[in-house]
Amino acid sequence: MKHLYVHVPFCPTICPYCDFHVVRRHGGVVEVYLERLAQEAQVLFEQYPGPLETLYLGGGTPSFLRDHELEALFRALPWGLEGAEVTLEANPGTLNAERLRLLRDLGVNRISLGVQSFQDTVLKALGRAHGRKGALRAVELCLEAGFRTSLDLILGLPEQNVEADLTQAVALGVEHISAYTLQIEPGTPFSLTDLAPDPDAEAQAFALAQTVLGQAGLVRYEVSNFARPGQESRHNLAYWRNTFWGGVGPGATGQLAGRDTYAFRYTNPPLPRWLQGEGPLIEQVSKLEHIKESIMLGLRLAQGVDIGQIEQRCEMNLWHALEPAVQALYRNGLLEVQQKRIRATDLSTLHPIILRLWDALEAKALHG
Ligand code: SF4
Repeated sequence: MKHLYVHVPFCPTICPYCDFHVVRRHGGVVEVYLERLAQEAQVLFEQYPGPLETLYLGGGTPSFLRDHELEALFRALPWGLEGAEVTLEANPGTLNAERLRLLRDLGVNRISLGVQSFQDTVLKALGRAHGRKGALRAVELCLEAGFRTSLDLILGLPEQNVEADLTQAVALGVEHISAYTLQIEPGTPFSLTDLAPDPDAEAQAFALAQTVLGQAGLVRYEVSNFARPGQESRHNLAYWRNTFWGGVGPGATGQLAGRDTYAFRYTNPPLPRWLQGEGPLIEQVSKLEHIKESIMLGLRLAQGVDIGQIEQRCEMNLWHALEPAVQALYRNGLLEVQQKRIRATDLSTLHPIILRLWDALEAKALHG
């Protein structure tokens, strides 16, 4: 286990579109959370002592924790972090120069900032706690303090000038941007409004992002992610390469090598049950499922997926089963093929490719 995700579920306010596992802080809940986190991390550390190549503190809003709570959080994680990429998710209103100095001292070297937009009308419509000024100031502070800085942007929103948001992000000089479209999730306040995603506006926004960010040297290396070469998120690359990772905290997931099956995936319960010591939900992952997921996730990357590497990892010959489908997709202009590496020619149309390859694998598994 070289990668660890830590879920910090606290946010100052809950955005009306948010479907993550988040709560407001109340009573002494953060102290109890930190104690439980330390116990859970210690148990995981005893089985998987690392050291870690990446640590990702996500949420929620980890930067919403107070200074002494952040210190306790890092004390709760016994793994060595020498040379690791250590990312902390932050919201603009929770950062200042002093806070960033503390984060730097604790070992954080990358900040993922939930900016979403630089336009006040859009931020207000999203129910965000910050405005344009706060977003600009936070980005400048992170860059001045020398953090690798990534921005989250939501694209294709009503009333949004997408080009202005992209141009602003580029002008600030960040080296990584995660661009999303707004998902209206059941049970969120937004699901009760008449706000509906506009697939055409979203597709146009992504095409614009590829042009504007590409001209500024930020390459679309994954469906939703753009980076200057060398500034890709190492932690998220580990997910897309379907490697093993651990997760601690309420609602956190992990995927680790299995004993009787290829791997197992676990999901921690939400905060109240997690605080009472309830264990995770465990799913076994067979070799075939692992292979299918590796292809699905790997195709999200602009560099594609090397079937040869999956074959080595799983000690199976897969190319034989996949080659007719790969060749058909190549002839239709959907895939590029270089030895056993396959990559989609257009990252926005992955679905049919994945289904075709999965069918080929399943047919092989069924008929030998
Ligand atoms: S800041 Fe992020 S995690 Fe917190 S409520 Fe808003 S969208 Fe959800």
